[in-house]
Amino acid sequence: MPTATSSTTWRLLQSVTDALLASVLAPTCASCARPLESPTAGPVCERCWSNVRPCVPPQGGGIACRSAGSYEGELRDIIHAFKYEGRRSLARRLAAMMRTAGADVLRDAEYVVPVPLHPWRRFRRGFNQASDLAARLDVPVLHALWRVRLTATQTGLTAAARRRNVRDAFRMSPLLTRAARERLRGRAVVLIDDVRTTGATLDACARVLLDVGCAREVRAVTAAGAPLYPRAADDDNRRGATRARVDLGAASGALVRDGVQRGHPVA
Ligand SMILES: [Zn+2]
Repeated sequence: MPTATSSTTWRLLQSVTDALLASVLAPTCASCARPLESPTAGPVCERCWSNVRPCVPPQGGGIACRSAGSYEGELRDIIHAFKYEGRRSLARRLAAMMRTAGADVLRDAEYVVPVPLHPWRRFRRGFNQASDLAARLDVPVLHALWRVRLTATQTGLTAAARRRNVRDAFRMSPLLTRAARERLRGRAVVLIDDVRTTGATLDACARVLLDVGCAREVRAVTAAGAPLYPRAADDDNRRGATRARVDLGAASGALVRDGVQRGHPVA
């Protein structure tokens, strides 16, 4: 356990390092582009983190899907920096927010399953952002799924087109051992992804886990969820990130094997 003296020394070292980094390298915030006062705290300033808007939970029953924040403004910038600029250190704070926002969904979860990238996209990007997030949620991670089709980007597609785009795109991972598959049987599983828009991808993954993997229940937690208001989505379009409209109805509900909500998309 750190003593008061070591804690003070650490803070002093951190502030000296921050001052040095700020004056020599002058790094800027990945969202607002202002100079970072505490570069050692990460590539996003505290003001931007505090401006992340909460995400309204999907309506329509159940507690199946939670998102740490609304996919707009600062959080959209943060996700883009994480995903497209390789700022992987952002996963730690995003996962902490996911643990808070998804506490009820994660509480009795036995495994978290990251939504997979196609192997080619994973190779090009160098990492799977969903795996980075899943690894920091304090729940055992099972890489149970495999993306078998290199689907077109979901950006700009309608909700119906998104569902067609990811249909049959996922399978149980061929790398999953028989023992691991058995461990999945009858378990409550939480899918992890960076962004939930219409819910098409999470829905497709959940169906595989329920139909093939025999999970008992599938829920989802994402770092960001579709913004509630169309204006935010329009704003998103201008940046070329997504044209998806909010589809709260489609994004709600758990997929419960042979249960009351089977067939409802989760994310
Ligand atoms: Zn900032």
